[in-house]
Amino acid sequence: MPSAKDETLCVSRGTVSTEGFDSLTVPIYRASTIRFGDAASFAARFERGPDGYVYGLYGTPTHRHLERKISELEAGERTVLAPSGQAAITCAMLHLLSTGDRVLLPDTVYGPVRDFADENLGKLGIEVVYYEPCDIGTLQSLLGKPTRLVWVESPGSITMEVQDVPAIVHLAHAAGALVGCDNTWASPLNFKPLAHGADLVVEALSKHFCGHSDVLMGSITVRDEALGLGLKAFMGRMGINASPDDCALVMRGAETLAVRLKQTSASALDIAHWLATQPRVVRVLHPALPNHPGHGHWRRDFSGSAGVFSFELMPQADSHILPACDALELISIGASWGGTKSLLAPVTVRPLRTATPWAGPECLLRLSVGLEAVDDLVADLARFFAALDERLAAPEAARAGVGGTTDRAVSSHGNDQIRQ
Ligand SMILES: *Cc1c(COP(=O)(O)O)cnc(C)c1O
Repeated sequence: MPSAKDETLCVSRGTVSTEGFDSLTVPIYRASTIRFGDAASFAARFERGPDGYVYGLYGTPTHRHLERKISELEAGERTVLAPSGQAAITCAMLHLLSTGDRVLLPDTVYGPVRDFADENLGKLGIEVVYYEPCDIGTLQSLLGKPTRLVWVESPGSITMEVQDVPAIVHLAHAAGALVGCDNTWASPLNFKPLAHGADLVVEALSKHFCGHSDVLMGSITVRDEALGLGLKAFMGRMGINASPDDCALVMRGAETLAVRLKQTSASALDIAHWLATQPRVVRVLHPALPNHPGHGHWRRDFSGSAGVFSFELMPQADSHILPACDALELISIGASWGGTKSLLAPVTVRPLRTATPWAGPECLLRLSVGLEAVDDLVADLARFFAALDERLAAPEAARAGVGGTTDRAVSSHGNDQIRQ
């Protein structure tokens, strides 16, 4: 740029050589504007096709790298990205469903999706029906009425029931319905829903893929190119995409996904077995345990487990769970999961089950096991049980005790919006 003034130099992008530069990482390309060489190519920009670059909203090379990686892992044709797992699910549903359509959701569906279905799909005149996740007979009879979409989430949120996805796919397709699968727990490393016949698979990349509790993102992957192009166009019209910086973080997470999953699932299974021996624990809800609902489907269809599972305490413990959680020193209290640091979340299931009324305790504990040493995590959980024992032995004394901890009753209605 010969003889430009300072103001012009300030805003101009010079050219530097990239010769010999070959980083091992995917570059972060940030852009709203994509520059065109001449006005004619700008005028003809939409001829660049669905993967051409025309505007940042429709993706940059950084997006393309992550989309391709996920498509390969899911054995799918096309992946679109969304700014959260929740957005991936709501966008998939909004694209597929129209007024008058019917959608079947498992009773164990991720809580915020239930909220979306009840609040928003209903308003659009879409019929939402919840089905018992492991009851194939009932699902079959529900499919007697015209249905557009059957949603599966396996294992189910919080209670972890494993669904018979191949059987559900068979029934749904026979009835002319599409099947969408929330595969966040397994990740494509442990289950590939598209290979089992599902039409689309969603991952909350915020969980295992990102793996460090600091990014929100989701993906939708499909086998059918026409469906994929339709989804991509829908996302564009809605103005939805993910940030390239976040894509780079998710790609970094993906590099260690396999080793993190192996480690956290092994640690979680050790801890699940230890919990099963604890006198205050009534039930451990983990797909790899032999008497867990759908364990046979898990063995047949999945190649591994994950670091997340739940457990139930004896009903007398209910009002003491929250204060006993204060005894934890290592495990944090919080929503989400799949990170390097262990988390415990007290969750209320009752308002999240409508197909089959919840018969379990008011409060369940969901544990997301991170990369800490198992011994340290067990020692921390032992602190929780010691605090619980103390309160169960002398609840009045404990309530009046030091530290100013007051009982906070677990609300049966308060946390159905909880981000899991
Ligand atoms: C967390 C989660 C989601 C939503 O993901 P966000 O990125 O937090 O919106 C969806 N499904 C399941 C099973 C989840 O655990």
